[in-house]
Amino acid sequence: MKTSVIMTRLQAKYPGEKEYLQAVQEVLESIEDVYNQHPEFEQAKIVERIVEPDRMFTFRVTWVDDNGTVQTNTGYRVQFNSAIGPYKGGLRFHSAVTPSMLKFLGFEQTFKNALTTLPMGGAKGGSDFSPKGRSDAEIMRFCQAFMLELWQCIGPDQDIPAGDVGVGGREIGYLNGMYQKLARQYHTGVLTGKGETWGGSILRPEATGFGALYFTQHVLHKAGKDIAGQKVSVSGFGNVAWGAVKKARQLGAVVVAVSGPDGVCHIKDGMTEEMNEYMLWMRSSNRDRVEDLATKFPDKVEFIPGKKSWSIPCDIALPCAFQNELDEEDAKQLKANGCWCCCEVSNMGCRPEAIHFFQSNGIIFAPGKAVNAGGVATSGLEMTQNAGHISWSAEEVDSKLHWIMKSIHEQCVKFGTRPDGTVDYVKGANVAGFMKVAQAMLEQGIV
Ligand code: GLU
Repeated sequence: MKTSVIMTRLQAKYPGEKEYLQAVQEVLESIEDVYNQHPEFEQAKIVERIVEPDRMFTFRVTWVDDNGTVQTNTGYRVQFNSAIGPYKGGLRFHSAVTPSMLKFLGFEQTFKNALTTLPMGGAKGGSDFSPKGRSDAEIMRFCQAFMLELWQCIGPDQDIPAGDVGVGGREIGYLNGMYQKLARQYHTGVLTGKGETWGGSILRPEATGFGALYFTQHVLHKAGKDIAGQKVSVSGFGNVAWGAVKKARQLGAVVVAVSGPDGVCHIKDGMTEEMNEYMLWMRSSNRDRVEDLATKFPDKVEFIPGKKSWSIPCDIALPCAFQNELDEEDAKQLKANGCWCCCEVSNMGCRPEAIHFFQSNGIIFAPGKAVNAGGVATSGLEMTQNAGHISWSAEEVDSKLHWIMKSIHEQCVKFGTRPDGTVDYVKGANVAGFMKVAQAMLEQGIV
């Protein structure tokens, strides 16, 4: 297998699918050597098969807004790979959603889910619907209209969606309500990220952020450091950022920045618990403005319009917002300001040039598919509880999450340790995830 040959073919076949091609290139580059040591992979054409989704559903979603105007959006579900378990992955509601974005996310999800140690295949879905400025009633009507089509494609042993950007507990509630109405199936395991009283797992809202910080702790320990007292810059202010800030604070770090599409909030003395909890209101308001934090806490928070979190001096950068949110210029600025570690929490949050800059300048970098896997891992734990009709305590879920993040870190170390003893986390995560899925495909024949 030669990455360049496969990429040339994919570029010709899917011109303009930038995010998808970027994600595939990153994985293929890091697995090429290992792959070529396995002639049985080449014989079964594993690479050619693994880069293509199993199937994609596209559907029209029509609903009525609060002014009585008819609105039409497009909905998607990309079922990427089911070699190790049923399709599993979130739904993204954002104006920029395209098939390319969901294909990249479904591809990443396949390897991420393999890293969790749990039997889950990869999928992703969503819509170009933007929740920004929408009322609660509009969100509900949109979710119901979306489920009118999606329900035929999903099921507890088939495909289990969850949240992602723009989809949190509220949206999962509306989606689940409509699913039950349509399917007349009352299994609690068809969506994850549910409310606690109707099959949800305690700690699922916190899980992505908590898992990311547990992973960061392992990265730091491996490098002989500790997180307590470190200055941390976070981007975004949604659910993932909220959980990351919460755990970072609990572990003694000082969170000096959160950001939004409008700019960055600089919090010199670190975020307080009150600010952290206010982020929940900021997300549910659908205003999509981080400036609201500075308006609420004017003495402690400085809002800088048009700037990113990477302009604020820190030790550790945690991108928690969107793909490609940190570019080479940002990486250079972070280094100039003393940053020495970047743990990517968002899916493909860093541009390839930024990752290259980090890696060639001695800055520790860990990729999203390892760092943020605690979210889907806790979804997997929710599925286990639903299948067994049981409920675990917060302590039980937290200790399982902790164990999973430790095991993901061990897999990265196993496959990514360089001759000098440092760890290439990108290679480690990609090779570990790929080997598991490839082996499962091989054992199940040409299907
Ligand atoms: N959207 C999250 C992710 O990117 C969670 C998916 C899930 O829980 O299924 O991994």
